[in-house]
This record gives sequence, structure tokens and C-alpha cells, in this order.
Amino acid sequence: MAIATIDPTTGETVREFEALDEEAVDERIARASAAFTTYRLTTPEQRVGWLRAAADVLDADTDDVAALMTLEMGKTLAAAKAEVAKCAAALRYYAEQGPAFLRPRPADADAVGAREAYVTYQPLGVVLAVMPWNFPLWQAMRFAAPALMAGNVGLLKHASNVPQTALYLEELFRKAGFPADVFQTLLIGSGAIEAVLRDDRVVAATLTGSAPAGRSVASVAGDVLKPTVLELGGSDPFVVMPSADLETAAGVAVTARCQNNGQSCIAAKRFFVHADVAEEFTRLFAQKLAALRVGDPMADDTQVGPLATESGRQDVEEYVRDAVEQGATVVTGGQRPQGPGWFYPPTLLTGITPRMRVYDEEVFGPVAVLFTVSSLQEAIDIANSHPYGLGSNIWTEDEEERARFVRDVQSGMVFVNGMVTSYPELPFGGVKQSGYGRELTDLGMHAFMNAKTVWVG
Ligand code: NDP
Repeated sequence: MAIATIDPTTGETVREFEALDEEAVDERIARASAAFTTYRLTTPEQRVGWLRAAADVLDADTDDVAALMTLEMGKTLAAAKAEVAKCAAALRYYAEQGPAFLRPRPADADAVGAREAYVTYQPLGVVLAVMPWNFPLWQAMRFAAPALMAGNVGLLKHASNVPQTALYLEELFRKAGFPADVFQTLLIGSGAIEAVLRDDRVVAATLTGSAPAGRSVASVAGDVLKPTVLELGGSDPFVVMPSADLETAAGVAVTARCQNNGQSCIAAKRFFVHADVAEEFTRLFAQKLAALRVGDPMADDTQVGPLATESGRQDVEEYVRDAVEQGATVVTGGQRPQGPGWFYPPTLLTGITPRMRVYDEEVFGPVAVLFTVSSLQEAIDIANSHPYGLGSNIWTEDEEERARFVRDVQSGMVFVNGMVTSYPELPFGGVKQSGYGRELTDLGMHAFMNAKTVWVG
């Protein structure tokens, strides 16, 4: 895949970049490695200062960086601005909480026959982050803020279709005053990742993206015994039970499915609706999906922009075609509009059967698939039968149903009467094919730290 900015609204190539050659990559790894030798010794207070400065730079750059993201991957400008604000908030969260997360954790010295015993958290070194294009700033920040607070050094290999946002991230940390080379962007294709990961100076990796990309990074990392955190795809269930407030649930369902033009790992993708309320919920859901304004992502009143890539739209069309051929009903949407750009309308499919690919695969676009179920158990059984386990949603006022869903659904996150969202204050990650490890909170920071046991006699 060429490293280039291609405007999804028009399909035009705006700017192309040369990938770094082997020598340039080696030189950058050397700089990162050298930076770690001194950065690891900086104090938490110094890092707090740089994190806060980075948040301020983001605030000041909001309009420019938001427009850049919209240009490169088509999210609406309003969504892009919200993403910038979320990144600034995450930087401030780690500035606020980081020093406490870094404090040594005392252990019971008497029990181990010591005068003193504790766990001290130390940074690991140069960490490679392989990131996707869908939240080009946030996905990278979710790694960068805790990593830099921890004293690690970052190398970012961003998706090939967001090179300018990738370069902005390097510039952001430079402008904030972080020491040179603690965060660098490597403009390289995915074929060059293996060599970076095998390099002895790189000690760990994190990847957000598809399962095949995760598998590839995890197998190389396994071979060289380096830790990884993987945040892969999801096909989150959204369960609606009879006691739910249907109007509110349908409104949130639309946002949960169509946020980011339908391209979010934690988007609700499969809707399980109890038969008692299925007709009414389907009507409300379809009506609200059809009312969304699709168009130029730069325009203030647009709610859904184009898909990020041409192949991404082809994939979505293929899923819908397959489902329809196997007998699914298109309640709304289902046809690409005429004209330039990789637009696809919000779409609702019903009559889903296990033979259809949408039954248990992830559709990365604004296509909702709706199952009518006769019980909560049936919803949980179908939800759990698929390979992913990232987030999950349930709408119910019934305490017993809520407790059962929380206990039995196979997912890393459960949201009751609300939509799955990431917050720095809550751990983020999945189970099964959605990956392993957790991002955000203290868990995300400690994922790339050595919890070193200290025993003093
Ligand atoms: P990819 O997983 O292909 O891309 C994500 C990142 O991984 C990019 O930086 C990419 O680099 C890199 N990458 C790609 N292949 C490999 C590989 N074999 N080894 C190491 N790194 C690799 O996502 P796509 O953009 O192609 O989207 C495909 C599907 O992935 C989507 O339809 C969706 O299902 C899922 N996805 C999930 C995301 C999430 O948030 N969980 C985000 C994006 C996609 P390069 O761009 O150079 O190929």
C-alpha cells in the first residue's frame, strides 16, 4: 500500500511520501535507543510538564489537525475536533494520575522475612506502536500518553493512508518540549515492521488493527519473546430487552453503529432485539438511520462522511451483497450513491442467518445487522458464538438480566443502557479474537513496564 494522503471525499491523491529505507529506519531506532538512556531517568514531574504542554499544543492546533484527519480519512470535522479534545484530555489524565501510577507498591515485608519489600515500576525501553487510520490521533495517543509518562520511548508505524497525521504526532511531542527522539514516526509499509520488531533495541510492541495484522505482529514478537498488547477487531452485540426505553436505545444504536462513518472497532455491529419489541425498535432504528445526513465531511451539518478507503467500501458492499443473496432484507440503505468519493449509506439488514458472512464477521462501515431473539439467553448464545469479544451493550431496566449479561457475555467491556466508549479512566481491550492486554488507566501504563520486585534484608 502506497504511503499517501488520498482524499476519500473525492478519491484524489493529495500527497505521496517515500517510505524510509533500511538505513534511515536503523538510524531512527538508534536515536530512539539513545534517547531512552536519558529519558528513563527524567522525573515524573518533568514528564507531567511535557504531557501538559502537549495537551496545550493540541488545544491550539485543534482546527488544523482536525481538518487534516478529515482530509486523510473522511471522518466528519466535528468528530475530528472531538477526537483532538479527547487526546488532550488523555494527556491531562496521565499528567494527573501518572505520578501515582509510578509510585512503588509496598508489599508485606514481614511475610517475606525482609526489612523492606516493594514493587517498583520501571520503563521497558523503545516500544513499537502499529496503529490504524480510523482514529488516527486517538489510537496513537492511547499508546503514547501512558508510554511517555512511564518513561518509555515510542516508535510509531501508522497506517499508510494517514501519513500527515502520523508526522503531526511526532511534531506535537517535539513542540511540547519532550526530549529529542522520545517519539518518532516511521513512514514505512507493513512489510518493514518485522525487521523493526526483531531489532534488539526495540523491546515491545502494541498493535491496533485487524486480526491478520495482529497475528503477524504477535507471531514475530512471540518468536523473539517480546511482549505485545493487541487491540483488534470487534463485532459488538447491542441487546435490546422489552423493558428498555426504545426511543433512547434506538437513538444511541444509530450513534453506536454510525460513529466515525461506521468504522470503529467498538461500534455496535450486531443488534439483538427481543421479539416483544422488535417491530417497534426496528421501525425507530430504520427511521433514524435513514434520517442521517451523508455528505461532505467538512460540512457542519454532515453526520456521516465517506469510508476511508476504496477497498473498505468494496468490502462493505461485498458483505451486503452476500447477505442479500442469502435472503437478508434491506430495511434501509444498501446502495452506494452515484458520484465521486467512497460514500456508503447507513444500512439496516434483517433476516440474518448463520450462512451469511455478516452473522459473525466484522463489517467496517455503517451497516447494522438485526436479529430478533426470543430471550436474553438466545442473544447471549449467538453473541458468544462469534470470534470477537471487544465490547458489548445491553438495554434493560431488569436487574437480573443486567447481572446475567455482565456475567455471561464474552467481552472485554460491557455497557448497560449506554454505548461502548473509551475513557482514560476505564481499561480498554478485549478477549478472544479481539486481542489481549489492556490500554488506558494504570493497566495500560503498566503493560509496558517492568514491575520489579525489591526485597531488602
Ligand atoms: P490493518 O490491520 O491492515 O491496518 C492496521 C495497521 O496494521 C496499519 O498500520 C497497517 O499498516 C498495519 N498492518 C497491516 N498489515 C500488517 C501486517 N501483516 N503486519 C503488521 N502490520 C500490518 O487494517 P486495515 O486498515 O486494512 O483494515 C482492515 C480491517 O481491519 C477493517 O475492515 C477492520 O475490520 C479492521 N480494523 C480494525 C481497527 C480497530 O480499531 N480495531 C482499525 C482498523 C481496521 P499499512 O497501513 O501500511 O498496511
